[in-house]
Amino acid sequence: MKKKQLKVDPIKTGTVIDHITAGKALQVAEILNISNSESEIMVGINLYSKKMGKKDIIKIENRELSEEEAGSIALISPTATLIIIENYKVVRKFFIDVPEKIKHHIICPNPNCITNIESVPTLFFLAGKNPVEVRCSYCEKKYFIEDVKFSF
Ligand SMILES: [Zn+2]
Repeated sequence: MKKKQLKVDPIKTGTVIDHITAGKALQVAEILNISNSESEIMVGINLYSKKMGKKDIIKIENRELSEEEAGSIALISPTATLIIIENYKVVRKFFIDVPEKIKHHIICPNPNCITNIESVPTLFFLAGKNPVEVRCSYCEKKYFIEDVKFSF
C-alpha cells in the first residue's frame, strides 16, 4: 500500500498553527503579517481533520509567536493549537487561551460607542468562553466574537 502523502511539507524549526477553524487561515495570516515576513510559510485551507471535519493550518519556519499574536489567533479561532517544532520534532503542543483583555483589535459594533465617534482605542474584556463573548469596556455592550470585526 502506498503511504499517505503529507499535504503540507514538514518544517525543520518554527511554529505550526493547527486546528484553525476552516476558512479562517487568511485572517490568522493577516494577524501574523505574513505578507511582510521573510520566513517560509505554508498555508493549508480546508484540510481533512478527523476531529473537526475540515481545518486550516499554517506553518511558519523560524518564527515563534508573541503572546499577543497567539491571543489574537485564539480570538479568531478558539480551536487553534500551537505546535513548536525543533529539528523536525514536536517540542511543545498547546491550546491557546483567549485573552481576558483585548486592546485595540476589536472594532465595537455599536455605532454610538465613543470608540466609533472619537479616536479612542477599544478595550474589550472576555465575557464568555463557549462561545467566545466579549464586552466593550466603554459602552458595556456584549457581543459574540462571530459578530465583531477586527483591525490588526
Ligand atoms: Zn463599545
